[in-house]
Amino acid sequence: MKFIKILLILSVFLSCTTEDDFVPFQVEQVFSDNLDKVIKVDIIYVQSSSGHCSYNLNETNFIHNLNGNFFHRYGIGLEKGVIKTIINDELYDLRDNRGQESSVFLTETQDSYDENRLSIYIIKRAHTVAIAGIGKDQRALITDEFLETTTVPHEIGHALGLFHYHEEGNIMGQIRPHMRKEFTNTQTDRMKNTITKIVGI
Ligand SMILES: [Zn+2]
Repeated sequence: MKFIKILLILSVFLSCTTEDDFVPFQVEQVFSDNLDKVIKVDIIYVQSSSGHCSYNLNETNFIHNLNGNFFHRYGIGLEKGVIKTIINDELYDLRDNRGQESSVFLTETQDSYDENRLSIYIIKRAHTVAIAGIGKDQRALITDEFLETTTVPHEIGHALGLFHYHEEGNIMGQIRPHMRKEFTNTQTDRMKNTITKIVGI
């Protein structure tokens, strides 16, 4: 019983509802050749067994923009890894799992992610209720209409061990997502430590 309670709390904590995350954010892109930590990022498209939908993501640009907008300036580099598709009805349609999204996500992805990498799972927004993304244990889930928003670095932050941080402008904040642009030093260190654990160097 206690375990279920903890799971529920975790779900509320980790499922990030960001209804107003459609306002374009503005940050100057910064790129660096001098990175402290680099991690490969696998991109995994989730499809349903009853028919395929199309995802229109340019993965190279996606990773490039994440680096320029949010990560290189902190010495963290993301590298494009494997691009693949999985069929998983449970994940594709999270409507049946309201309040349990995070635990369902972690359970349903436990066999499809690489332990030495970060994995980003992409699903269609149309089949979820108010979930922009989820992130934990080196895995992030993003609904595809949020791929251009700060939901992505926010969920990557969760996937690399960060919790919410209630300060406007912080990427781990839950209010005014379009204002989110910064990580603190403590958050940066924590992500780097997590990367060291995941990558092994
Ligand atoms: Zn969050």
